[in-house]
Amino acid sequence: MSAYLDLRGIRKMFGETRVLDQVNLQIREGELVTLLGPSGCGKSTLLRCIAGLTEIDEGSIILDNKNIGKLPPRNREVGMVFQSYALFPNLTVKENIEYGMKMRGASKEARRKRSDELLAVVDLEEKRDSYPQQLSGGQQQRVALARSLAIQPKVLLLDEPLSALDAKIRKSLRTEIRDIQQRFNMTTIFVTHDQEEALMMSDRVCVMNQGRIVQEGTPETLYTRPKTEFVARFMGSYN
Ligand code: ADP
Ligand code: MG
Repeated sequence: MSAYLDLRGIRKMFGETRVLDQVNLQIREGELVTLLGPSGCGKSTLLRCIAGLTEIDEGSIILDNKNIGKLPPRNREVGMVFQSYALFPNLTVKENIEYGMKMRGASKEARRKRSDELLAVVDLEEKRDSYPQQLSGGQQQRVALARSLAIQPKVLLLDEPLSALDAKIRKSLRTEIRDIQQRFNMTTIFVTHDQEEALMMSDRVCVMNQGRIVQEGTPETLYTRPKTEFVARFMGSYN
């Protein structure tokens, strides 16, 4: 497999705690890979390392044949959506979406064109001049998604983007995210602790435990042929 995003031997310590322990992960262009694992296993830390928000101790991060492991976040061409909506409260929807492009020096015209496009994609055209607190949680996450796509990232990192939402919205938004991801052929890592989400959304699932990827494969393989008790329990294979 030719990897578009290639993580090799990623290690991270926080004090005495080994939070990431020799993580290897190869992702093809356009693939959606889910990281599934219990709270505290290192999922967010791994995404933060890819985005450059946390420094790695060892290993390499290659994206589209370029070693990005030491670049500042802004130069990594990585988009990220967080669990809590993390929009700028004092900026409108449109300004939130355009923010990253503005920081990178895009012209007003280019910004407007891109934000119009993305507002249509997430179906929030009529909310362009609203402020985040005037939107529902689901709408805010759609703005966050549009904002992360605005910079035309090479990889999209979604850190439990649905977990703060109620069940019904969660289900419709997961379909919406998957549709958009496929439409853009966007290479994506989707973090969740919800196995149903992982089974529904992914091309491939990686189960993490204690800073390591303990098994990876198609959703079907992980569900029907878990290698360990831990994976079986986590995938709900016994239900
Ligand atoms: P997950 O997203 O899978 O729930 P995290 O990556 O957030 O897990 O955390 C993994 C481990 O690293 C946890 O034990 C957490 O307490 C610890 N941790 C995360 N960030 C920091 C930090 N900035 N300083 C110290 N410990 C941290
Ligand atoms: Mg987390």
